[in-house]
Amino acid sequence: MARVEVKNVTKTFGKVVALSNVSFSIGNGEFVVLLGPSGSGKTTLMYLIAGIYKPTSGQIFFDDVDVTNIPPKDRNVGLVFQNWALYPHMKVYENIAFPLTLKKVKPQQIREKVLQVSQMLQIDQLLDRYPWQLSGGQQQRVAIARALVKEPRILLFDEPLSNLDALLRLNVRAEIKKLQKDLKITSIYVTHDQAEALAIADRIVVLNNGRVVQIGTPEEVYAKPNHTFVASFLGNPPANLLEAKLNIDDRMIYIGDSKLNYAFVESLTQTGQREFVLAFRPEHAVISSEYKENSIRSTVYTVEPMGREQIVTLQTNGQIFKVVTSLEQKLQPGQTVYVFVSSDKVLIYDKSSGQRLL
Ligand code: ATP
Repeated sequence: MARVEVKNVTKTFGKVVALSNVSFSIGNGEFVVLLGPSGSGKTTLMYLIAGIYKPTSGQIFFDDVDVTNIPPKDRNVGLVFQNWALYPHMKVYENIAFPLTLKKVKPQQIREKVLQVSQMLQIDQLLDRYPWQLSGGQQQRVAIARALVKEPRILLFDEPLSNLDALLRLNVRAEIKKLQKDLKITSIYVTHDQAEALAIADRIVVLNNGRVVQIGTPEEVYAKPNHTFVASFLGNPPANLLEAKLNIDDRMIYIGDSKLNYAFVESLTQTGQREFVLAFRPEHAVISSEYKENSIRSTVYTVEPMGREQIVTLQTNGQIFKVVTSLEQKLQPGQTVYVFVSSDKVLIYDKSSGQRLL
């Protein structure tokens, strides 16, 4: 187990800036997810931690040791890849043993270690099979066993679930979380799937365009996104972002012609901004078919039943947004409704920078 510190790391490939001045640290035994859209720099960051890439500038520490110039084989990290990358011509036993065979560990010792990890992962009955004779979930466990057999200080996962079908993905996700908690091994997990990140992480590092946008627990980044990018990236459907104006004369917030009276107007006045983005989560709004004060007058656009709840898409003065409601609420496309969001569920962002103001 190790603490990891990434300090002012920049990585460029020719003219492409893959990572720009990235800093964060990971505690002993912590499970950190690197989350971001395609091209945000997640894999580059993981490869830098593994030692496969060297930073253009900045440093990486394991515990308090600077490993920036230490090659991958001497860093003692275990890697679990997207496609498991099991060797098809080798049986499960040889696949798991491979990292130790490479290190020329004595056969008797290899045998002990392979048996130990395969018992722990409950794949000791499968050691005589070839990868093609295993289910996707079993192959994934073999890949984890192979990463664990050299007793790494850090475990790195690169989108390990992306090749699994939806149901298996949920099961394996839960298994990885349980295993990580049991082993208490410092782990870094790359994904572009926000639901996966929310479900599995102790903390999430949100990346966009090679920069860290926010670091926090799943609860923190979900409830208090510090940037419109994070608000619109997390959640399914994600947070609604509506253009709003502050009218300094009547101290009201306007979304189109809907007038909202929120207690935070005073603090907003002090920011000097008159136009901003008002955000809220789809599950935090209440739709009513009767007129209601302090509500956004809207028209129902579509209603999508989802089994447990429904997603209602609404339109207000040309802006589209979504609300999740109970299936019992009967709504018709074209119907005029009033959408209420209580002030403690509203977040306010700067219109040009996207940074959170309130
Ligand atoms: P994905 O989810 O698609 O895997 P990612 O978040 O892992 O994306 P990276 O693969 O880290 O993103 O890439 C970050 C940026 O760096 C991208 O613009 C990518 O094109 C660029 N990049 C990555 N590797 C190289 C390379 N070897 N040579 C040139 N550019 C690269």
